[in-house]
Amino acid sequence: MFQNWAKTYGSSPELFFQPTSVEEIREILDMARQRNKRVKVVGGGHSPSDIACTDDFMIQMGKMNKVLKVDKEKQQVTVEGGIFLSDLNVELSKHGLALANLGAVSEVAAAGVIGTGTHNTGIKHGILPTQVVGLSLLTASGDILECSESINADIFQAARLHLGCLGVVLTVTFQCVPQFHLHEVTFPSTLTEVLNHLDDHLKRSQYFRFLWFPHSENVTVIYQDPTNKAGTTGPQEEGRRAITKAASQSLVPSQVWIWTFFIMGERCGGLCVRFSIHTPAPKWDGESCNPCQTLMTIIFLCLALQPPSSSANWFWDYAVGYYLLEFLLWISTFVPTLVRWINRFFFWLLFSSRVENINISYKIFNYECRFKQHVQDWAIPIEKTKEALLELKAALENNPKMVAHYPVEVRFARADEIWLSPCFQRDSCYMNIIMYRPYGKNVPRLNYWLTYEGIMKKYGGRPHWAKAHSCTRKDFEKMYPAFPKFCSVRDKLDPTGMFLNTYLEKVFY
Ligand SMILES: Cc1cc2nc3c(=O)[nH]c(=O)nc-3n(C[C@H](O)[C@H](O)[C@H](O)COP(=O)(O)OP(=O)(O)OC[C@H]3O[C@@H](n4cnc5c(N)ncnc54)[C@H](O)[C@@H]3O)c2cc1C
Repeated sequence: MFQNWAKTYGSSPELFFQPTSVEEIREILDMARQRNKRVKVVGGGHSPSDIACTDDFMIQMGKMNKVLKVDKEKQQVTVEGGIFLSDLNVELSKHGLALANLGAVSEVAAAGVIGTGTHNTGIKHGILPTQVVGLSLLTASGDILECSESINADIFQAARLHLGCLGVVLTVTFQCVPQFHLHEVTFPSTLTEVLNHLDDHLKRSQYFRFLWFPHSENVTVIYQDPTNKAGTTGPQEEGRRAITKAASQSLVPSQVWIWTFFIMGERCGGLCVRFSIHTPAPKWDGESCNPCQTLMTIIFLCLALQPPSSSANWFWDYAVGYYLLEFLLWISTFVPTLVRWINRFFFWLLFSSRVENINISYKIFNYECRFKQHVQDWAIPIEKTKEALLELKAALENNPKMVAHYPVEVRFARADEIWLSPCFQRDSCYMNIIMYRPYGKNVPRLNYWLTYEGIMKKYGGRPHWAKAHSCTRKDFEKMYPAFPKFCSVRDKLDPTGMFLNTYLEKVFY
């Protein structure tokens, strides 16, 4: 059984393979051809849609995960398609190199992130596929195609954002940059201020993004900029890591545990505060614990609720920002109007003061996404940011029954020439909306989803390929001027549709 990270989509492949060589993949494709089966290649399985699902043959590329070549002069790295970016980041760092931009998580494969057009933020930076300067594809016929700007240029423009439908991506060559540190500053603001001064914010910070808390004016602005200062991970942060590492090693599901932890933090005007908690273990691996376990934890939390004054720690990140929030969101499934108060309360509690952090780039780009969630993330022309967000805000105000979890994450990306890139030929604003699934429970979201999609379409939006959307071929033909070119490359490379699945049939038929 295959399930994506959020456990929102899954499938039962007839056969599951983890090949270790190109020859083995060829054999799998031969077998698929003989038996008239389809094939889906999966990377980290993080896509919050059914794009990586199949009931036929699934190939997981986790064992084809080597760094093949580091060209220090050109600052380029060639890797096998299955390498996780978390491993690549560390390898690059050993050579004094880094990727110029990354998404929120690195437990994703090189071929997987480019396959769906993963992006971060920064108006001078393109989506992740813009960092690709070459790749090789094993096509349905068993041929290997090398492609770059100068070799098989058309296939290259298609394969940089390939949707998993052109063949098996064997290798990817990334253009890197010298390793760098980032200085992150997070501070509170209002939606009006940010939207009225959007250009200033975009100029002021290389990797600017902001989080809007729906049902309110509250915004958290996040600036990230290269710095010469070395990493300043303080003892507090190190302490938190040690605690959470130990916790992750010792926790056994449903085992009653006694865990004493100390939170050394700058709380109460800089005093060190210690808490001692004896409670059934909330599971650490990102799985939800149940409402009763959480309630016990919360009793202890109530002793200590004061907004943080500097960098985060386990208490605020997990006990409050995860377990308490999940519990309250679960309660709100019975009383939906609570959501607007939860959004405001958590902004006040966790996001209302300025926080600074410096670290190596990938540790700042990546952040922990704790909640299983449903997401939509459309890219609209950047000049429509204000109108679109204000329309979404008005829609929520005018429809009190429609609730929206926080945050709406707003990010920016430079225009590119990649045929199926949501940023094709236009600077773009990505507007990511979420609805969490507290304790795995689905929260009604249809109304919010349709309203958001309607607004995105009205402003010329294009959906993120990995995330939820209801678009079909007709929509994509209108959205993407180069859609016919992509289709003709796909028809040529995969005439029998070996690499299609249900998701892709909606895109191409
Ligand atoms: C917690 C979380 C945080 C996220 N943060 C961001 C973010 O900040 N920005 C953003 O844009 N997106 C984000 N995403 C979405 C994520 O980046 C994309 O879904 C990405 O494609 C996941 O990579 P993966 O390796 O898991 O790919 P998968 O989901 O495994 O596969 C994605 C596509 O690539 C294809 N594929 C994978 N490997 C190969 C191969 N070797 N050859 C051919 N096809 C292949 C698959 O068939 C599929 O079509 C996030 C998702 C999660 C769950």
